[in-house]
Amino acid sequence: MKKVILFVVDSLHPVVLARLLSEGYVPAFRFLAKHGTYFERVVSSFPTMTPVATSSMITGTWPDRHGVPGFIWYNEDIRKIVDYGATLQSVIKIGTEKVLRNLLIKLNQEHLSSDTPTLYEELESKGYSTGNVNLFMHRATRPYKAKIPFSLSLATGFRFTEAEVLGPSHLTLGQLVHPTFAERASAYPRGPLNRFGFNDAFSGKISAQLIREGKQPDFMVVYFPDNDKYSHHYGPLRTGPSIEQADLLVASVLDEFGSWEKALEENVIIVTGDHAQSLVGLGNEYLIDLDRALKSFKRLRATEEASGNNNKEIAICPNERMAFIYVLQRKNEILHDIVGILAKDPRNAQIAWKISENKYCVLQGGTEKQLFFGRVGPYQDVYGQTWTFEGDLTVVDAQVKCKQKIEFGKYPDAFGRLSSALEARSGSRVVVSAVSGYEYLAAGAPIHPGGGSHGSLEEEDSTVPMIVTGMPVRLDYPRIIDLFPMIMGHFGF
Ligand SMILES: [Zn+2]
Repeated sequence: MKKVILFVVDSLHPVVLARLLSEGYVPAFRFLAKHGTYFERVVSSFPTMTPVATSSMITGTWPDRHGVPGFIWYNEDIRKIVDYGATLQSVIKIGTEKVLRNLLIKLNQEHLSSDTPTLYEELESKGYSTGNVNLFMHRATRPYKAKIPFSLSLATGFRFTEAEVLGPSHLTLGQLVHPTFAERASAYPRGPLNRFGFNDAFSGKISAQLIREGKQPDFMVVYFPDNDKYSHHYGPLRTGPSIEQADLLVASVLDEFGSWEKALEENVIIVTGDHAQSLVGLGNEYLIDLDRALKSFKRLRATEEASGNNNKEIAICPNERMAFIYVLQRKNEILHDIVGILAKDPRNAQIAWKISENKYCVLQGGTEKQLFFGRVGPYQDVYGQTWTFEGDLTVVDAQVKCKQKIEFGKYPDAFGRLSSALEARSGSRVVVSAVSGYEYLAAGAPIHPGGGSHGSLEEEDSTVPMIVTGMPVRLDYPRIIDLFPMIMGHFGF
């Protein structure tokens, strides 16, 4: 049985990869594409944010099932905003300890639903070994001690020096959890300037080392985070150099097998991204200021708990080019008012909320257009999901073709993805997704004027390329949730 290696390049943009492949700048990716199946467009989750998308990849479900709704979201169970560390300022405000606990422990052990097993859990329960190098989604049953690096621990006043995390047979989480280094330690970029080992070079070194030492698990995920930062900074269409860097590291992993041909004889190799990015404009008009638009409501702060005493009305949870606005009290009345305000702004491509069981409404900002939809009905999409709707389909750029086929254009799988964002966990909320070129501003929001951003329902944020080499695969309309059954299928399940 061939082993499987899944390389995840954060924010891998389909157009840039296609260009690099045709120009020959990424020899390893080109070799894999030439010997395998290359999908130019695979649909990601909504919001198109890393914790949501990677949870979808590793469980084969959307956020309505796996329970990780965003990078920043409101947790009704504890009546607080959850943030995995979107900005340095918010880490300082919320506290390093809380952010670290959210990211290292709660994301996998509390937020990710126990009803949706991960690929690691499923394969290990069937006797296969699995491993994860640097991806934040790693839930399995083996306990590891994560040593919090000195400078991070210092920032918690030494209240947080180590943590027990659960992972698969092999787990690397930067310098917090890793195998004994095979080379001098300085060869593995670590420390605060190298994001404590959460960087491409560290991921590449560790995975090559595992193969060299004969410790390669049957299924292994290798995560390359650097391209996301690069793309945010320089813009998605200029990510050539950082994708080339990821290619070099994949090449170094393939080299460990003696030759790339041999690597393919022994492995299924998959290269994909979690989501892509799109360019945002430079200038204040490209920032949709939600704090200002919704200033008439009492907003829950990042550190507060919603309670009867503080009487907070809403929680704004910005996720770059999308945002959740949770309604904390007087639900119908406040929701109605929020929608009224957001609907006036043409920079909001979609404003969506749940009206009642299986009934959702979507508006287009700056217009009078509205659309109602729900699951199960006479209209079928390319994924075999059926829908009922009433109103203006142009709100989600959809059309009904012959034989009641519904097709989505600029907003792939729009009904499925919007409803899953509205159903993820509990809590009454409005979801907004920005027009291309814009992103949301609110307390705690990272912003990228003139750079790349993501999160929205739109195609450019939402589609990633995927190369699958070493196994037959046929998917007419691929989505990132297809990875789960594809990999399980390879192992005979
Ligand atoms: Zn990002």
